[in-house]
Amino acid sequence: MVGYIYYYDVASLVFCSFLLIYFFSRRNVRNMQTGMYAIMLIAVWISTILSVVVVCAYEFLFNISIWIPYTLEALYSIFLDLAIAAFYCYIMVITKGKKNLTRWDMTRIVTPYAIAFIMLVTNYWTKFVFSIDTVTGVLTFQPGKYILFALSALYMTMGAYEAYMNRGILSKGQKWAVVILCALGANAIFLQCTLLPQVLLMQIAATLSTMSLYFTLENPGEYRDKLLDTWNRLAFTSITSTEMDMNRPFSVLAMRLDGIKYVNESLGVSFGDKVLHEFSQFLTEITPPGTVYHISGMRFVIMNRKCKFEWNSILESLKEKFAEPVIIDGISVNLKLSMCIIRYPDQVSSRQDLMDIIKYVLKEQDVDGSSVLIELTDELLERRHRENAVLKIIKDAILTDGFEMHYQPIYSVEKGRYASAEALIRLKNTEIGYVGPDEFIPLAEQNGMILDIGNYVFREVCRFMSENKLWEQGIDYIEVNLSVMQCMQETLHAKLLQIMDEYQIPYHRINLEITETAAVVSNDTLKRNMDKLIDKGISFALDDFGTGYSNIAYIFSYSFDMIKLDKSMVWSAMESEKAQKVLKHTIKMLKDMDMHIVAEGVETLEQAEVLKEMGCDYFQGFYYSRPVNEQTFLQVVSGEK
Ligand code: C2E
Ligand code: CA
Ligand code: CA
Repeated sequence: MVGYIYYYDVASLVFCSFLLIYFFSRRNVRNMQTGMYAIMLIAVWISTILSVVVVCAYEFLFNISIWIPYTLEALYSIFLDLAIAAFYCYIMVITKGKKNLTRWDMTRIVTPYAIAFIMLVTNYWTKFVFSIDTVTGVLTFQPGKYILFALSALYMTMGAYEAYMNRGILSKGQKWAVVILCALGANAIFLQCTLLPQVLLMQIAATLSTMSLYFTLENPGEYRDKLLDTWNRLAFTSITSTEMDMNRPFSVLAMRLDGIKYVNESLGVSFGDKVLHEFSQFLTEITPPGTVYHISGMRFVIMNRKCKFEWNSILESLKEKFAEPVIIDGISVNLKLSMCIIRYPDQVSSRQDLMDIIKYVLKEQDVDGSSVLIELTDELLERRHRENAVLKIIKDAILTDGFEMHYQPIYSVEKGRYASAEALIRLKNTEIGYVGPDEFIPLAEQNGMILDIGNYVFREVCRFMSENKLWEQGIDYIEVNLSVMQCMQETLHAKLLQIMDEYQIPYHRINLEITETAAVVSNDTLKRNMDKLIDKGISFALDDFGTGYSNIAYIFSYSFDMIKLDKSMVWSAMESEKAQKVLKHTIKMLKDMDMHIVAEGVETLEQAEVLKEMGCDYFQGFYYSRPVNEQTFLQVVSGEK
């Protein structure tokens, strides 16, 4: 048996060994995909070694027992076919995810290999796949060999088909990688069994395929955070999916590092990076190898697969580290760590659930406080559950006209009657009982849905005013609340004016309420919007005065002509003399600055009298009327109720 051209195999062995060392010397994320890749790589490597050994056995060892080349040749094929089967399985895992593999998928993965395996193991006796001449050592392919080629070609075709059918999941590069690999494999098989049986092409094709897979699909850099030398978010989602697919319990320590924003602002981003780097370095030191993940700007996670280690010592080290300001490059920085341990499957049931809880629990914390370990209590989970339910209700309400407006009359001391009203939004009916705006407006703010809601509110108010010509019934204007996000919109003024024009509402019939937070957050944009709207005749009120910083100088840089005293301020004045003095002087000062004053939360006659004495111009509160629906409101203002 002479004349096989085996240089390709030797070259393959060199390449393949290099790839193997490279692959295993790197940290690889432990998921099903990479596991499959590892099997494929090892199988290719072993088959390459065997292919070289087989040829050597023929070429150089003439007098060996005949069962040796039989065994080597069979083993060679067993491993090569294993690599091809693993390749197909790898494609299936990538495109479908292990969880979604059906019994039929598993059958397609296993059956061809099982057939090949049985044929090869029994070949020594059956000579169905190949035979070796005992005298010359010449190897002859038997019909079974062509069945093996056909089975390999079948895997390749199925792999290409799977990649094609699920092309949406793969990137363009990945798609092409699979197509080219399948074509390469099919060609190698074809050439090997027809035109060029003397040239051992299979190995080089397998090695090149495995190598290019590594740099396209397996993409080694994809899972690493290069700056911090940790795993990244993708690695985290991948490993959690794998563990959940396998139904293996695990726990994670999720952390949020607050204070980086200030460091970036005051000391520069590169110093901020240094702080992050230092922190991740510290995490790496106090945890078992390969367990640290950096999942977003300031969020880190430590993964405890199969709950192998205890958290106590890690928590202790972290607490100790954050008990005092952290010193980096001689600079003391104030950082705060919020931590939470989350357990699968006890506390979370899916990957999305886990990510949501991490986000929910680890919200921005005040840097001045001390670091905290947040316990994932049932109450907390319940609260999150409710928030999710409310979010869903808001989404539905936006789509299905599920809101309505209520109006709370505002009493004018000067006129001795209701002269205006505040428009307050309500959810019509919900499955979970009453959900007030205090609860759903902040949620809608966080999720961007407030813009749709704001539009709805303004349109509804204009429609109601124009249909009933409220100003002819003594309601001079309606107060409409603007949220922070609306105030940040550069086009706010144009939108509002357009809606008012549509319903032909005189501009001075609207008063817009803004909280101090909105003024602080949206500063310049808000000022520009206000200027343009005030120009047209719209007036503004500062809402919830007395709850925020009440930074007077700052507030008066805006052109408010009305101040709404928050109910808490009104109520506390009724309880303590000191608070009453504060309120009295505040009102006096505001009046001196020509502000009109509305007192909110007036619930009793006594309160109304005290506030009147102090000089408030308007009263809003349950003593006069609760917020009521359109119909009732019309009855109230016409004196019927
Ligand atoms: P807010 O702007 O301070 O509205 C006044 C709140 O005080 C209303 O609560 C009203 O029902 C309540 N209130 C009035 N008088 C009394 C009283 O005598 N006693 C008591 N205990 N409460 C009184 P509501 O309607 O639940 O609204 C809560 C908050 O939700 C509002 O506070 C406002 O910040 C927000 N909100 C309501 N409607 C809208 C809206 O259309 N758009 C925006 N952006 N926010 C809204
Ligand atoms: Ca208000
Ligand atoms: Ca208010």
